[in-house]
Amino acid sequence: MTMIPFDDRDGWIWWNGSLIPWRDARLHVLSHGLHYASAVFEGERSYHGNIFRLRDHTDRLLASARMLGFEIPWSAAVIDAACETVLRANGLTDGYVRPIAWRGAEALGVSPAGTSVQLAIAAWAWPSYYGADRMQGIRMAEAAWRRPAPDTAPTAAKCTSLYAIGTLSKQRAEAEGCADALMLDWRGRVAEATGANVFFVMDGALHTPTPDGFLDGITRRTVMALARERQITVVERPIEAAEIGGATEVFLAGTAAEVTAVREIGPHRFTPGRITEALMRGYDSLTRGAPAVSS
Ligand code: PMP
Repeated sequence: MTMIPFDDRDGWIWWNGSLIPWRDARLHVLSHGLHYASAVFEGERSYHGNIFRLRDHTDRLLASARMLGFEIPWSAAVIDAACETVLRANGLTDGYVRPIAWRGAEALGVSPAGTSVQLAIAAWAWPSYYGADRMQGIRMAEAAWRRPAPDTAPTAAKCTSLYAIGTLSKQRAEAEGCADALMLDWRGRVAEATGANVFFVMDGALHTPTPDGFLDGITRRTVMALARERQITVVERPIEAAEIGGATEVFLAGTAAEVTAVREIGPHRFTPGRITEALMRGYDSLTRGAPAVSS
């Protein structure tokens, strides 16, 4: 499969208030966001022209920026409208939307003083994060890198700096032939995948780690609500790494990943089953209006 480079495509990108040609959306190499990771972003999916939970994503973008000490100079209503504009400008009804805000290049040093805040939004087609393995289940490696404690990094923010840990973990997992990595937190408890939250079926109930050091995903909360509607008991609690082998089903949940079954984490094997399938179908009908998964 040939990859179209992300900096050389036809299309439009929303850039600080206007739509500009995709190839012109360039920033200076001395941007603060690049050197000191002063950047926050979102990942959204549109289904049939509607961006799922758009305002929740926009609110999280604004909140992430505040956690990094800057204010995005656009209202939630303007950002929502800009996301929809970008999608349409690129001729997409089903696609992925990526807003990103960063500190500019007016000053360069650890201090952010004197830098402006920039916002850009792109959108592209992104059919399935893990390809055909969504129901059969992906293979996951055990990450060597851990999620940091909330007093060592702004762990509730969707900020670029935290993705250094995810990228290291994902690169190693892919080198081992796996699709993703499961990261533990600083205490050695289960945290999340590199771009999605994790759920375990244990004794017929759905267990998921308490999000006290990683992103409390919008999909995660949606899936928990779907499970409760289906009379599935949901248990949010600290989960020790040693408990993973006791799960019967495991799946990931995230905007890009949607609901994706897991069949392997390190030495542990799982068989995607009834609860994973029910929630995958539930999520598909909530987002797409019809189940996209055939049995
Ligand atoms: N954790 C990480 C590290 C992520 O990148 C994502 C995707 N944004 C998630 C969890 C899931 O979040 P959401 O469901 O809001 O997309």
